[in-house]
Amino acid sequence: MSRGKQKIENQRKNQERQAALKGGKSQLAERANCARVTCPICMAPLSHASQVAPHYQARHPKETVPAEFAQQ
Ligand SMILES: [Zn+2]
Repeated sequence: MSRGKQKIENQRKNQERQAALKGGKSQLAERANCARVTCPICMAPLSHASQVAPHYQARHPKETVPAEFAQQ
C-alpha cells in the first residue's frame, strides 16, 4: 500500500521536474531579467539599475536618486 503511494509521489515529482526543465522556470527568469528594477516612487519597471537615474530626471526631477542607483 505504501509502495503504491510512493510510486504516485515519485511520478508527481517527476512531472514537476519535467515541467521546470521545459520552461516554466526559464520563463520566470526571463521575466525577472526584463524587470529587474522598479522605480521606488511610481513602481515603473526599469530594465536596468542604470536607467533609474534618467527615469528620475524625466519623471521625478524633484526627487533625489537613491544612492544605490546614482552610480552612473
Ligand atoms: Zn518613477
